[in-house]
Amino acid sequence: MNITKDTVVTLTFRAVDEQGKVLEDGKEPRAYLHGGYGNTLPGIESALEGREKGFATTVKLPPAQAFGDRDDTLVTSISKKDFPPGVKVGGQLEGSDDQGRRQVFTVTKIKGDQVMLDGNHPLAGKHLTFTLKVLDVRAASAEEIAHGHAHGDHGEHH
Ligand code: ZN
Repeated sequence: MNITKDTVVTLTFRAVDEQGKVLEDGKEPRAYLHGGYGNTLPGIESALEGREKGFATTVKLPPAQAFGDRDDTLVTSISKKDFPPGVKVGGQLEGSDDQGRRQVFTVTKIKGDQVMLDGNHPLAGKHLTFTLKVLDVRAASAEEIAHGHAHGDHGEHH
């Protein structure tokens, strides 16, 4: 069976950034619903489109095909007194951006009374290399298509 819209793909993927840092070791198989459901990166979907079980490849994705470019308008700071207690570098806070969209901010620095926040995805602006191996391809069930994600062994459990 070929990978096409509304198939469930089980794969392993190893991801490294441009400094060679391993972000995902690729040991745990994952299943995703193929076909633009946002279950995986568009650059991974296009590398696998039309392929079959057993296919293996390495793809290098620029930020635009991975987690996007960094957006400096998502870097902000707030006063420590307005922040929930227990603020730590690396901690996360949910807020909204100036268009009212939900956004997760990561605390990057605490300087005196100011807490510096970054709403970019931690991998934004990075060139990532993925090593992909397709373990299985099957047709998605009607329920999976309705939910927009894969169920079963390596998919969603609910
Ligand atoms: Zn579901």
